[in-house]
Amino acid sequence: MTQTQTLNTYADLLAAIDAGESGRAIHDPATGELVGHAPEHTVDDLHRAVDTAVEKQRDWAKLTDAERCEYLNRAADAVEAAGEALAELVSREQGKPLNGPGARFEAGACATWLRVTCSHDLSEETVVDDGETRAVVNYRPIGVVGAIGPWNWPMMITVWQIAPALRMGNAVVVKPSEYTPLSVLGLVEVLNTVLPEGVLQVVVGGGDVGAALSTNEQVGKIMFTGSTATGRKIAESSAASVKRLTLELGGNDAGIVLEDADPREIAENLFWGAFINTGQTCAALKRLYVHDSIYDAVCEELTKLAEQMPMGVGMDEQNVLGPLQNQMQFDIVDRLVKEAKASGAKVLLGGDPDYDAPGYFFPTTLIADIDADNPLVVEEQFGPALPIVRYTDVEEAIAQANKLNVGLGASVWSADLERAREVAARIEAGTVWINSHGGVDPRVPFGGIKQSGYGVEFGVAGLKGLGVPQVING
Ligand code: NAD
Repeated sequence: MTQTQTLNTYADLLAAIDAGESGRAIHDPATGELVGHAPEHTVDDLHRAVDTAVEKQRDWAKLTDAERCEYLNRAADAVEAAGEALAELVSREQGKPLNGPGARFEAGACATWLRVTCSHDLSEETVVDDGETRAVVNYRPIGVVGAIGPWNWPMMITVWQIAPALRMGNAVVVKPSEYTPLSVLGLVEVLNTVLPEGVLQVVVGGGDVGAALSTNEQVGKIMFTGSTATGRKIAESSAASVKRLTLELGGNDAGIVLEDADPREIAENLFWGAFINTGQTCAALKRLYVHDSIYDAVCEELTKLAEQMPMGVGMDEQNVLGPLQNQMQFDIVDRLVKEAKASGAKVLLGGDPDYDAPGYFFPTTLIADIDADNPLVVEEQFGPALPIVRYTDVEEAIAQANKLNVGLGASVWSADLERAREVAARIEAGTVWINSHGGVDPRVPFGGIKQSGYGVEFGVAGLKGLGVPQVING
């Protein structure tokens, strides 16, 4: 890729990244059609990329913060210009529809995150200056950062990892999910029409390549987003070289609807909180606790709304929900829904996929009168099946929300903001939203507690996570 080329059409973008027949075929999860071929890099390729990153990082770190931000803002312009092509690529590869909070939203968020990451003020901090002691803190680059990502929001999550890393003067080696490498390759190609060569590279491969990144001695930090099981492995494998880690792991977000909420008013936010990206979102609403007095009304409003939301092929403009991205995830959702049905829970909507139809489509599913310990409630479904649990005492709902070993997001739904905030403060989660669920903002720190991980992304706190503090004392 030359520094002057632009990649604004889908055909140009695909031509720039397609590895040809020798690569790994990637298929559209909605239709099974071939999207393109991803290169298959080896562990040796990964180590070579890290060597290059070490070398290129030195000059990148010598630039001023303003100069690096100028690059990143121009990179945002390039992403905007290629927005429609990137949206088409991620829609075909990941399955999410162009519309709704889908592929166009994801491409747009990439540009937004690049720009807003450069708008945070991270100036020198004077912590003591009393005439005797003068101590100031600055955040220096770490060096090389490894960015390992999942398949649900492949481009957006990559930008969340790389934008602060680059701004802070690091070079980055990205390892995308083996399920969705093309959209990340496309994004990186577009960014590299602007960035100096070698500060941002992508290496495509499976868990072995990710593991090599997390053990490479020259990598100072891993930004990881994915499952808790893999996060645990990375924590172990990176220990020998004492790497810094930000771990954004799985969740099982609870929502608690208090008795004074208006079922009709909250239905739309409840729906998108749970079903954004067909439920394949880390901080999606994954179990809903509703007060007995409005339980039936909430179920009814949610069902009325959910049955109107078109699901289908991502490239069809009318759709707002797509398929699951892969067979593995389809099987997880299918198993959990079958177990819920077998337990005697009531299916309000969906629950019955057409196994013979093309694509990994699982219908929008709402399950009521379900036991609080049912696997669909206590395991992460990561798909379009929401269990709705009845409660009578808010203490019981809070205890249920807090009983799992994960704590990414949660939400409280009420007409009384003060009361909602009081309940929110008692929920064990990194973020608790009120009357909405899952919205992220590049200015606001985001991260999990318990086994949903540690470290935060976004905002000034996120930037600090991509630097190492240095105190000058004297
Ligand atoms: P995953 O853990 O299976 O894979 C994530 C990445 O890790 C992939 O790139 C994979 O190749 C790589 N990997 C696998 N084994 C590895 C190893 N031993 N060392 C290093 N890397 C390795 O996760 P997934 O199935 O792609 O994503 C779904 C999960 O991600 C869900 O649990 C979801 O909740 C979570 N998630 C969390 C957030 C968040 O911000 N907290 C965001 C999105 C997704």
